[in-house]
Amino acid sequence: MKAAVITQPKTLRLEELEAPQAGFGQVRVRVGATGVCGTDLHLFEGHFHARLPLVPGHEIAGVIDQVGPGVEGLQEGQLVALDPVVACGQCWACRRGQRQHCLHFQALGVTQAGGFAQYVVAPAQNAYPVRGLSAAEAAFAEPLGCVAWGLLRLRPEPGSQALLFGAGPIGLLLMQALLISGASRVVVVDPVPERRALALQLGAYRALAPGEPALDLAPHGFDIVAEATGVPAVVEAMPRFAAVGGKLLVFGVAPEEARIQLSPYDLFQRDLSLIGSFSLNGTLPIALEWLESGRVQVKPLVSHRLPLEGLHQALAYKEHPGMAHSLKVLIEPNA
Ligand SMILES: [Zn+2]
Ligand SMILES: [Zn+2]
Repeated sequence: MKAAVITQPKTLRLEELEAPQAGFGQVRVRVGATGVCGTDLHLFEGHFHARLPLVPGHEIAGVIDQVGPGVEGLQEGQLVALDPVVACGQCWACRRGQRQHCLHFQALGVTQAGGFAQYVVAPAQNAYPVRGLSAAEAAFAEPLGCVAWGLLRLRPEPGSQALLFGAGPIGLLLMQALLISGASRVVVVDPVPERRALALQLGAYRALAPGEPALDLAPHGFDIVAEATGVPAVVEAMPRFAAVGGKLLVFGVAPEEARIQLSPYDLFQRDLSLIGSFSLNGTLPIALEWLESGRVQVKPLVSHRLPLEGLHQALAYKEHPGMAHSLKVLIEPNA
C-alpha cells in the first residue's frame, strides 16, 4: 500500500509499505479521508517527542475491509470514524475515566501508524459506525470529538454570551458546538476576512477583526471567552473580556515553552474559571451525533481534497503560497 512516512524531522516520503493485517480485536480500514491538523505539523517539525519513522494522520474515516478474530458488532463494508486514542484501560488515569491521559498512551497517527496511508489498523472499540455521512464528513468526527470534550469541560450555561478567538477549522467547529450547547450568541475574532465571512455564514453573531471593540457587544463582559488560536498573547488577553463569573477556555495548542502573565487577584476577585481541554475522551459519539443530525456543518470547512502526494504541501504550507489561509485539508489516499 501507499503510505506517507515522516522519516525524520521535516522529511516526508511516499513509501510502498506492506498493508497491515487486522489482529485479534482489531479491524482494518480502507481509508476514505484523513484530515490534516496542527498536530501533524508539529510531528512533521519533530516536536511532541515524535517516534520516527511514523505514518501520521489521526482524523480518520474509511470503510472496514477486514475484521480480526474476536471482534463483535462490526462488519466489512461499514463506514467508520476512528477514535485515535488507544488507551490501556487498566492504569490509574484510565480507571479515573481519563483515557486521553493514559499512562501507556498510544494514538493512531501519533505513536502508531495512522491514516495517511491506504489502510490502517485500529482496535475495534475505536471504530464507530457512521450513518448518512460521507467519509470526508466523518473525518471531522475526531476534531469535533475534541470540541465535544472541550464543551464537557466548559459546561456552558443556557443563555451564555461567548467570545471566541480564532476561526480556523477547529474554531469554526467550536463556534457551532457552542451555539447548540448553551451559548445564545458567539462573537468571533479572526484576522482573515474570508474566515470572518464563513463564521457569519455558520451562525456567528458578529465577526470582528483583532482590535475591534468586542466589549461594545457585551458591556459587562462575556460569560465565555474561548480561544482556538494557540497564540499565548491571546490567552493572556482573555480575562479582560470576561464577565464576572466568566469561564476562559484554552483550546488551542500553544508552544510548550510559552509563558504568559495573568493576575491571580483578577481570577480570584471576579470568580473567573480558567479551563484547559486536551484531546478527546470518549466523546467521538457526541461529534457523530452533531454531524449526523446536521447541527454542525463541516462541508464549508473543507478547502482542499488531495491525494497522498498532496500531504507535503499541506505540512510544508509555508513553502506553498496556495495553502495560505487554507481551512481543513483532507487527504484521500484511495481516491
Ligand atoms: Zn487533530
Ligand atoms: Zn491507561
